Amino acid sequence: MKTSDLFGKGRTVFSFEVFPPKRDDPVAGIYSTVERLKDLSPDFISVTYGAGGTKNSEVTLAIASEIKRSGVESVMHLPCVGMTRADAEDCIARIRDAGIENILALRGDLPEGMTERGDFPHASDLIEFIKQRGDFNILAACYPEGHPESPSVTEDILNLRKKTDAGACQLVTQLFFDNEFFYRFLERCRIGGITVPVSAGIMPVVNKKQIERIVSLCGATLPKKFTDMMARYEDNPDALRDAGIAYAVDQIVDLVSHGVEGIHLYTMNRPYVAEKIHAAVASLL
Ligand code: FAD
Repeated sequence: MKTSDLFGKGRTVFSFEVFPPKRDDPVAGIYSTVERLKDLSPDFISVTYGAGGTKNSEVTLAIASEIKRSGVESVMHLPCVGMTRADAEDCIARIRDAGIENILALRGDLPEGMTERGDFPHASDLIEFIKQRGDFNILAACYPEGHPESPSVTEDILNLRKKTDAGACQLVTQLFFDNEFFYRFLERCRIGGITVPVSAGIMPVVNKKQIERIVSLCGATLPKKFTDMMARYEDNPDALRDAGIAYAVDQIVDLVSHGVEGIHLYTMNRPYVAEKIHAAVASLL
């Protein structure tokens, strides 16, 4: 099923994101995570892919295939940095053979030590390439606070339009902690002629190390309400986890009340956190 067909039916599409296990972690862990997430009946689950060519494609594809086999629709992330056209052709053929219909097409960031950027300067180039190679539903990433490399939010919107013009028919946002960024972004999208459904990416922050890493990577603004919470509970892991869950629930309630089309929960492979959040918001969706 194409996940873009889930939108426009008078309810909020609720999805999860998982990532493949780190090199030394047992692969079985991700399957027990998926099993618990599946019990929450999400609309789809997406699987990330570590950028840097094709070396990480097998594990992402195996997880996305298993999710689909289990009866939940899956989305495979595909970052093109470091890929040649032949690499992408091969990946897309394997995705098609596995019966995966949904691809989140990304540029990705060049991993440390890698210098070859590959044949696709931007996600829009990959989207065009995928579009010419079959009947896939193509998703793309977007940034309520602007992509860190963009000189301005306006330029970022114009570049986002290139992705939808190339064939992306569904967007998922970068995480944000202040919903006002999302509402302003959505307004700019609509003014800029971007009409496809947009899912709001929500990341429940459940430990201090996580937030330091996230902010250094994506530069999300941390509202005072959020930093106060972190400061108060940073030495109490259980309290910080519960406060992080409550913060995410609060964001989702506000977004759903404003008629958001989709919520995409960055689960960080923590089914307990997804279960708590789902239990709190399921009746609102
Ligand atoms: P692009 O769309 O190419 O944008 C990158 C920059 O170039 C932006 O500043 C944009 O304004 C500009 N730009 C875009 N198109 C053009 C154009 N045609 N001409 C000129 N400028 C242009 N990374 C991974 O490695 N693996 C993942 O699985 C993964 N999943 C993600 C999921 C989501 C929902 C999000 C939000 C991000 C994800 N990322 C992932 C991170 C992503 O790869 C990085 O944010 C990366 O820096 C940008 O990727 P992009 O696809 O948005 O790139």
